[in-house]
Amino acid sequence: MSERIFVAVAWPYANGSLHLGQIAGAYLPADIFARYHRTKGNEVLMVSGSDQHGTPITIKAEQEGKKPGEIVARYHQQFLESWQKLGISFDLFTTTGTANHAKVAQDIFLTLLDRGYIYKAIVSQPFCPQCQRFLPDRYVEGTCPYCNSSGARGDQCDQCGKPLGSAELIDPHCRLCGTTPVFKDSEHFFLKLSAFSDRLLAWVKQKTHWRPNVLNFTTRYLEDGLKDRAITRDIEWGIPVPVDGYEGKRIYVWFEAVIGYLSAAKEWAKSSGDEEKWRSFWQGDEVKSYYFIGKDNIPFHTLIWPAMLMGYDDLNLPYDVPANEFLTIEGKKLSTSHNWAVWLPDYLSRYDPDPLRYALSINMPETGDTDFSWREFVRRNNNELVATYGNLVHRVLTFVYRNFDGCVPTPSNTSAPPTQIEINSAAKFNDMGKFLSDCHFKQAIILAMSLAHEANRYLDEKSPWKVIKEDRQAAADSLYTTLCVISHLKTMLYPFLPFSSQKVHGFLGFEGKVEDYGWQLHSLPPGQRLLPPQPLFSKLDERLAEEETNRLGQAYG
Ligand SMILES: [Zn+2]
Ligand SMILES: [Zn+2]
Repeated sequence: MSERIFVAVAWPYANGSLHLGQIAGAYLPADIFARYHRTKGNEVLMVSGSDQHGTPITIKAEQEGKKPGEIVARYHQQFLESWQKLGISFDLFTTTGTANHAKVAQDIFLTLLDRGYIYKAIVSQPFCPQCQRFLPDRYVEGTCPYCNSSGARGDQCDQCGKPLGSAELIDPHCRLCGTTPVFKDSEHFFLKLSAFSDRLLAWVKQKTHWRPNVLNFTTRYLEDGLKDRAITRDIEWGIPVPVDGYEGKRIYVWFEAVIGYLSAAKEWAKSSGDEEKWRSFWQGDEVKSYYFIGKDNIPFHTLIWPAMLMGYDDLNLPYDVPANEFLTIEGKKLSTSHNWAVWLPDYLSRYDPDPLRYALSINMPETGDTDFSWREFVRRNNNELVATYGNLVHRVLTFVYRNFDGCVPTPSNTSAPPTQIEINSAAKFNDMGKFLSDCHFKQAIILAMSLAHEANRYLDEKSPWKVIKEDRQAAADSLYTTLCVISHLKTMLYPFLPFSSQKVHGFLGFEGKVEDYGWQLHSLPPGQRLLPPQPLFSKLDERLAEEETNRLGQAYG
């Protein structure tokens, strides 16, 4: 019975390279989930795109003396290359700069306006007397009124995660020149979030399957009371407000970026040749939508976007929002501005994708922050990926290839009851499916690796390299069993390690893609021709951990 799964992934700002915090936070878990469901035979639509609007982009453009469009074109292209190299398998990775997106965003704006969920009000906006301009939220910095930390911005406090307004900041100042802004009146549009409080509360109460951190954060936020929020700005870069007389204003980026999940599905449908096909991922009970985001984005996806959808149309609300916590780097909070970050294009220029996917999966920040360190990365690569899994595959395949004419050996009794390791393998496979469906990715990969350990123990115990001298058939039996377990492992590890699983698939003599064989355990046909094996992973020099760590915090080009 096939299901439909909509995989919505956070939209990265196209103002800088991707870093490991974003990969561990949203992109890798989304990809694991999508690959698992596709392998199961479910229909999956996985979308995201570059967020081209908003002040993070204009700030970057001002710093470089470029136009915002040049900045976003550069990083969008870089994102696409990064996805391809890391194996993040989007069905569509678009941008918020398309005519389609503007049309969908403006339609939602006008519909909500028409229904009274958007209203106009005069607000006093920060205006810098020195720069002679209105200051968007990110251009105002100051102290957070909730947690008292300095360096909070007018849109959000990164320290406590609360969304803010510029007027709430203590000691506000212009980020361009440091001047204290004055407040001037300006007419803006507001989203009437308060109108959705009761419906949101009733809806969130049913979400007992949400991760505790997501559910608690959302509930606390709701209990504090939802405030109406301005959704337009006095800026030039962004989607125009589709109402006469407001030509100088733009739709605020937080309002239109979340609409990207819907506009991307429509764009995908159009390019598939069936314009109405997006509905199958947005309407009806037989489709579930999952939003993969970092914890700093929770309220936008559990409250604000659902409120917008409630007011707009008969479209599905998020089924789950498995937000991850943060990844720290070498024990310190990741900071892009201080270059305390591992940049994805930099990593991919020197290392293979699967070791990173492995290290981030088995240490995924699902229920609390986790740390990435280069030492731990090298250790996991050498002691776990190479020693436990890679060597298992390589020593068995090379031995079989040499001693059994490059073919899968024939066991003595094909109708014999399954051995203990085969029973365990099937049990672990079933449990893994449950973990993956419930977005418990760390537990799932730990289980797969425990099977690799077990296969190593089984092999040491059976020692086919010794046994083959006296009893060729006994050796063939244990090697056949181990090959079957390796075949199971390549399926189980495929969502996490797609590149190496595909290699193992080929070494074992299977054709086509791992995904085409389905989420099931495949025994090997005796006599199946194997391909000449090659090592799956390479050992890394321990000295590189020190070199890489020393690069952190230094200027980045
Ligand atoms: Zn704060
Ligand atoms: Zn200023």
